[in-house]
Amino acid sequence: MSLPLLFLDVDGPLIPFGATQPYPAYPPYDDMNPLLDRVNPAHGPRLAGLGCELVWATTWMDDANDCVSPRLGLADLPVVTWPRSTGDEPVGLHWKTPTLVRQAAARPFIWLDDEITNIDRDWVHANHPEPVLLHKVDPTRGLTDEDFAILQQWLAAHESPCK
Ligand SMILES: [Mg+2]
Repeated sequence: MSLPLLFLDVDGPLIPFGATQPYPAYPPYDDMNPLLDRVNPAHGPRLAGLGCELVWATTWMDDANDCVSPRLGLADLPVVTWPRSTGDEPVGLHWKTPTLVRQAAARPFIWLDDEITNIDRDWVHANHPEPVLLHKVDPTRGLTDEDFAILQQWLAAHESPCK
């Protein structure tokens, strides 16, 4: 099995929002964008340590490399570019989903996002023969230890003995 891709959303998984409780306090980072203070710097090494090829899959586009990667201690990552909507996407399917499947080509992948539904899971399983994990992150909490445990379990279950 080739190295899995890990498509990574920013708002929700890395920048939690919508919580009724205060967010954890990390060292202030960027006076210009206080949202970045919500990014846990420790997530960078943990994501890098998963053994996947990390790819930004976010409306932050190249700003993810300019603003979020340094906060996480990550080098610049590849960035998914989003095509214009054609208006004929399946009803209920997330607008990112077809592009991610196309980008993954014949590779296994994980997608971390706070907007994934079973419509996306069903469509991906029907349109992508390689192993996939569409993992929905609670946007009020962002990535948690439980999320990382699920990713590691999936990766361990799909690890090739030839790797
Ligand atoms: Mg999001």
